Amino acid sequence: MRSHPRPDPVVDILGIGFGPSNLALAIAVTEHNESTAMTPLTVEFLERKPQFQWHRGMLLDGATMQVAFLKDLVTLRNPVSRFGFVPYLHAKDRLIDFINHKSLFPSRIEFHDYLAWCAEQMRHVVSYGVEVVSCRPVEQDGLVNHYEVVARDVATGETLVRQARNLVVAPGLTPRMPATIAPGPRVWHSSTFLDNLARLDVDSGPQRFVVVGAGQSAAEVTDHLHRSFPGAEVYAVFSRFGYSQSDDSPYANRIFDPATVDVFHRAPEEVRTALLRYHANTNYSVVDVDLIESLYRRAYEEKVQGVERLHFFNVSQPTGVRETDDAVEVTVRHADSGRQSVVRAAALVCATGYRATDPRTVLGEVAPLLWTDEQDRLLVERDYRVVTGPEVLAGVYLCGGTENTHGITSSLLSNTAVRAGEILAAVLKRLDYDSTTRPQPANEADPARN
Ligand SMILES: Cc1cc2nc3c(=O)[nH]c(=O)nc-3n(C[C@H](O)[C@H](O)[C@H](O)COP(=O)(O)OP(=O)(O)OC[C@H]3O[C@@H](n4cnc5c(N)ncnc54)[C@H](O)[C@@H]3O)c2cc1C
Repeated sequence: MRSHPRPDPVVDILGIGFGPSNLALAIAVTEHNESTAMTPLTVEFLERKPQFQWHRGMLLDGATMQVAFLKDLVTLRNPVSRFGFVPYLHAKDRLIDFINHKSLFPSRIEFHDYLAWCAEQMRHVVSYGVEVVSCRPVEQDGLVNHYEVVARDVATGETLVRQARNLVVAPGLTPRMPATIAPGPRVWHSSTFLDNLARLDVDSGPQRFVVVGAGQSAAEVTDHLHRSFPGAEVYAVFSRFGYSQSDDSPYANRIFDPATVDVFHRAPEEVRTALLRYHANTNYSVVDVDLIESLYRRAYEEKVQGVERLHFFNVSQPTGVRETDDAVEVTVRHADSGRQSVVRAAALVCATGYRATDPRTVLGEVAPLLWTDEQDRLLVERDYRVVTGPEVLAGVYLCGGTENTHGITSSLLSNTAVRAGEILAAVLKRLDYDSTTRPQPANEADPARN
């Protein structure tokens, strides 16, 4: 690693969180730095997890991606990138096997391995085990020139401070529990499913599980428990009438296209709201049809054989939960009849979704600089920069949490590659790129940081 003659403590981009969104940005910056004769951008990413992990709690055997592999971290931005899914397959000596597989949808386990393979190549720009707790603006001559980022070393509790001209906030999703249910030793959100299941002494409790929810995660957990515990009953509880199929037909799928972000961003509020409503069934509370059919087939087979392990409480919701040492008692209210059932189970899994994490939770004193609409939602430019007054030179960019301004891909992978390129372009455009205030590289540039 080389040092600058005048090391600049203020990096050009500091990324908060290192999931796929900021990983894609790290790659975009690396590729930019490798291809420019100008001063390389300096970047750093802070990630609270101890290593790269993508929804590990739901890395279920057999679960597949909801997105085609060509929507990887780079291909839609740079089809010849060495960080694509195809180069990954080649590096792993599986390219021909994958082709023979004849599927656009890898398993989630394989896609996690691809992401981790990319993350490993970006490890020089990321600090793991570091949680950002707040940020504050730093002024020069009455202008907000950059930000100070306060973070905590998760292992030691030590405080770390970083400075950056631009923040790219990509904190991901926050699990959502039902209003009346709190997590406990036997009450889990699906995001922690596999970790908790591994800790559970299944043999000591009732051979029964309850899964709340009717979306993809709920169906996957129901399927996983039913397959993994051949002696156990699984109760699927949801307020809908039945699982509904996700719409991934070609025209509807265009809602995920990069160009749709333009349509969305320029449309009036009521049009955006309508589009989100029309196409919610491409992503929310819906399940892959193959999985629906597989569950139905199994439930029917059990009926034929007279041994039913897979139960569906539809038009129902959990109203009470009581944990004991060896079980959890879940009270379920059936809304059609008003009747109640109590199921004594080894565990209750709430696959009840997520909400986008509000970036302001980590922005501290920077948050008041960001403009909001009448509903207190952040105003976000097409290039993902949050709107600020002209006195704020330093940028805050968002990956995620922009569904109301940029559309349904906000929290998904479909547009990750292109968005990373757009944020990079916006940062480059606004940076005083060749200013003498930014140190020039020594004889040879470190592509990412000094
Ligand atoms: C089970 C599951 C399966 C999914 N499958 C698909 C799919 O097939 N296709 C698809 O398009 N989408 C899918 N999604 C949607 C998912 O949001 C995206 O896949 C993707 O994770 C978004 O990437 P991200 O980097 O924005 O967020 P995340 O992957 O959530 O990453 C955010 C990161 O920020 C870190 N972080 C948060 N706060 C801080 C802080 N204060 N300091 C430091 N670090 C912080 C977190 O630890 C996390 O690592 C799935 C979601 C789930 C839950």
